Amino acid sequence: MNMPLRTPPARPAEHGLDTLFDGLFRPMDADGVYARTGRYEAVVEALQALISRQREEGTEVFRFPPVMSRRHLETHGYLKSFPNLLGCVSCLEGSEAEIRGAVDRHYAGGDWTETLETADLVLTPAACYPVYPIAAARGAVPAQGYRFDVACDCFRREPSRDLDRLQSFRMREYVCVGTPEQIQAFRERWIVKATALADRLGLVYEVAQASDPFFGRVGQLMAMNQLEQALKFELLVPLRGDGPATACMSFNYHREHFGTTWNLRDAGGEPAHTGCVAFGIDRLTVALFATHGLEVADWPAGVRDALGL
Ligand code: ATP
Ligand code: ZN
Ligand code: MG
Repeated sequence: MNMPLRTPPARPAEHGLDTLFDGLFRPMDADGVYARTGRYEAVVEALQALISRQREEGTEVFRFPPVMSRRHLETHGYLKSFPNLLGCVSCLEGSEAEIRGAVDRHYAGGDWTETLETADLVLTPAACYPVYPIAAARGAVPAQGYRFDVACDCFRREPSRDLDRLQSFRMREYVCVGTPEQIQAFRERWIVKATALADRLGLVYEVAQASDPFFGRVGQLMAMNQLEQALKFELLVPLRGDGPATACMSFNYHREHFGTTWNLRDAGGEPAHTGCVAFGIDRLTVALFATHGLEVADWPAGVRDALGL
């Protein structure tokens, strides 16, 4: 597959990430979990609207809550790939007396969390996971395939002080379910559309092949396999000088993984293939401020125009 690898002649990020914090966020007592200011959210909303305007015809929209079925995530195989990133909901269950016992322990200086019970929910780690069982429940995938527009507040347990690595962040995705040819075409089309979008936003970037940080030794093999088969590309924006660039979008081909997992099949019984393009909404927004500065009114006219700001 021929990928457009290009870097447009725009300004590189020149506003140090750390100096942006006060303008964009307020601390909430946890690294990577921040209150967002109005200045920041105005750009988030404009960016979401710009991405919506790129939506292809025949695309179905879903917005998912920040939690999902634990059983579904187990079925996805997430525990094999990223157990270290997963957050699981736990609650005080039981009788009033049992719950009262936990509360009393807390006020007596003890640990109320000792009697927490694991719930049937996890924190959603990627926006597209909930869509596959929804599609599978409909029966055979139609010949033209499916296209979805999904979004979710995602959680990943990777606490960091870096503004481009949050524990709670927003992900927007376009997802395609269909034949291998449909998925390849979808992905190639979206790499072109997404780089055009990054051009309009005045971002410096590079599109490069990537692998996921799969967990453990077996994970290293999975990552090598992913690279060998060119399953993942990222749009990387340099946000810290010569340091590693930040993945602000990713273009993923899952082959028949979700098709087999969810019994998502075409009319002939073949497992469907799937792919997605993911927009890291918070990363893109931080990249915009890092590139163009804190004052949106001073951003290049073309960028403000693209965003309607
Ligand atoms: P990275 O290698 O930087 O951890 P990733 O490969 O884990 O990224 P994906 O799983 O492809 O990322 O997620 C899709 C998009 O979501 C990423 O391209 C990025 O823009 C965004 N994203 C992922 N993790 C985070 C995070 N911790 N904070 C903010 N945005 C994130
Ligand atoms: Zn996805
Ligand atoms: Mg990651």
